Parts: sequence; structure tokens; C-alpha cells
Amino acid sequence: MQRILEPGEIEALDHNSIPRIRMPERATVFKTRSQRLKQLASDNPIGDYLRLMAILVEAQQQALDRLSAEPDSNAIDQARVNLAHAHLMPLILASDQVRSPHWQGVLEQLLDHVMQVATSEGMPAPLQELLARIRHGDQNERDNQAEAILQRSNAAVDPIAAPFIAAALQVICVDLVSRFKVRDVPLLDTPGVCPCCGSLPVASVVRMDGESQGHRYLQCGMCAAEWHMVRIKCTYCDSTKGIAYQAIEDGSPAVKAETCDECHSWLKIFYQEKDPYLEPLADDLASVTLDLLMGETNYERRHGNPLLWQSMEN
Ligand SMILES: [Zn+2]
Ligand SMILES: [Zn+2]
Repeated sequence: MQRILEPGEIEALDHNSIPRIRMPERATVFKTRSQRLKQLASDNPIGDYLRLMAILVEAQQQALDRLSAEPDSNAIDQARVNLAHAHLMPLILASDQVRSPHWQGVLEQLLDHVMQVATSEGMPAPLQELLARIRHGDQNERDNQAEAILQRSNAAVDPIAAPFIAAALQVICVDLVSRFKVRDVPLLDTPGVCPCCGSLPVASVVRMDGESQGHRYLQCGMCAAEWHMVRIKCTYCDSTKGIAYQAIEDGSPAVKAETCDECHSWLKIFYQEKDPYLEPLADDLASVTLDLLMGETNYERRHGNPLLWQSMEN
């Protein structure tokens, strides 16, 4: 049986050389991602989509900044921290946030910003209609969509609206998670799940900055926290056997597909030493060609990118 670590013991672990968690930086998390999306859009087969997502992510930063200005934005729930440590569960659950009073308002702010910017840049009429449909849609229907996205129920999800709804939920998750300190974050016995919000990783990245140098982190698709995981290990089934790497011939050396022969899953791994500016979620979206190639193999990607809805088998 696993022994529960006391907060003091966890703090001692945090002083080891490898930072086990990299918390999302609320002042810059979406700004950095938006800039990276813009940078990746040129010469990309889905460049127009990346530019649209860059506008959406820019709006996420503005919405987060507005939440930061609210009076209770620094309050953390100590009871929640104690509960998480006692039961080895994440600090918050992304899946609970559909019931947050804020998320619908954040979604409306995001849509208003995207409509304003994209209209001034000559956005195609069908896209304007789509955004207006979600903006003026029924709130219960939006709640149902949000539930379906978080539960990954393919049949119920409107794939075109999904990135906008997921983006609003991301803002809520980053808002809540970034109030906690590293020492608040529990150690879970499920290493493939975000210890901050219980979501799944969008990709993994071998960092090269500061004390994280040479270590691999999984980036959460929802709250953008990164947690350490040793290299050459399946992020899905924890196997250390049968791990291999595939890359696109003549493609970027900064990205590979990490495959597992035990559970036949794969996930992208990025190498910051090959590209210092990479941002896992943005770079995952921009390297969709690798997804297409991997789609022809017998490996399956088990969790997708919140900004691009793809049907999954699980
Ligand atoms: Zn998370
Ligand atoms: Zn595996």
C-alpha cells in the first residue's frame, strides 16, 4: 500500500534538483502560446486555422487578466489542498468546472474578441455565422457541449464549436490552478494524469531551461501545468518496455512520436534544445502532419488537443 506523504515531506522533495511541477504563469501563459501559434502559422498546411486559434488564445489571456482583477483571485482553498493530499487526488477537477458560474461569461468574452478581430481581418462568412451561433446559443446546450467535451463523448460533441468551448474551460482551469503553490500539488499514483486538474496531457516536452534541463514534462491540455515524468516511459500505461520514437523524414528535429508496444498508444514528444521557443500545445497543433502519418500505423493517440476536436476510440 502506498504511504501518503505529508506536506512537509513533499516540500522536501521539491528541493531536489528536478522541479516536479511547473505551474502555469498566469501573466503570460496564453500570451506566449498565442505568439507561438502566429509564428508557426507561416508555411503551415493549416496556417489559417493556427491564425484563428492565435486570436482565440490572445482572447484567453485577456479573459484571464480580467479574472485576476477580481477581489478573490488570490484566495486558495486550504481545505481543498488538504483533501487532495489525504486522498491523492488532483487539486481541482476540470470536469467540475462546467458548474463554475464563470465559464459561460468567459466563453462570451472569447467569442466577442474573436469576432471583433477576425471580422476586421475579413473572416469568411461561414465562420462569422458559426461564432454568432455559439455566442447567442442556449446556455444549457453549451453546458451539455462542455460536459460532452470533458467526457470525450464523440457522438454528442459539435466538433466545430468544441475548440471555443474548451478554450473557455481552459481559462477557468488556469485561473484556479495558478493560485496554488508547487508545495500544494499532491503526488498522484496515476503519473499520466495532471495532479493539478485531473486532465490528460496534450504532449510531452524535454525542457532545457534552468533546473528542468534535460528532464521530460507532460503538459496538461487544460490547465497548462507541467509535471515531471522520466523519459522512455509510456505516458498512458507506464510501461518502460517497447518504447520507440518515430519522426517525419526531413521534418522538424524538435518533434517525435513516442510509441508504446505494450498498449499501442502514442504521444508527441518535443525537444526544447532543438527549438527553444516551442510551446507544447501550440506546437502539437501545428505538427498535425505527424498525426496524419501516425494515423496510418497501428498506434493510437489516446487524448487530443483541446483546440482541435478529433474523434478518439477510447
Ligand atoms: Zn491540469
Ligand atoms: Zn503504453
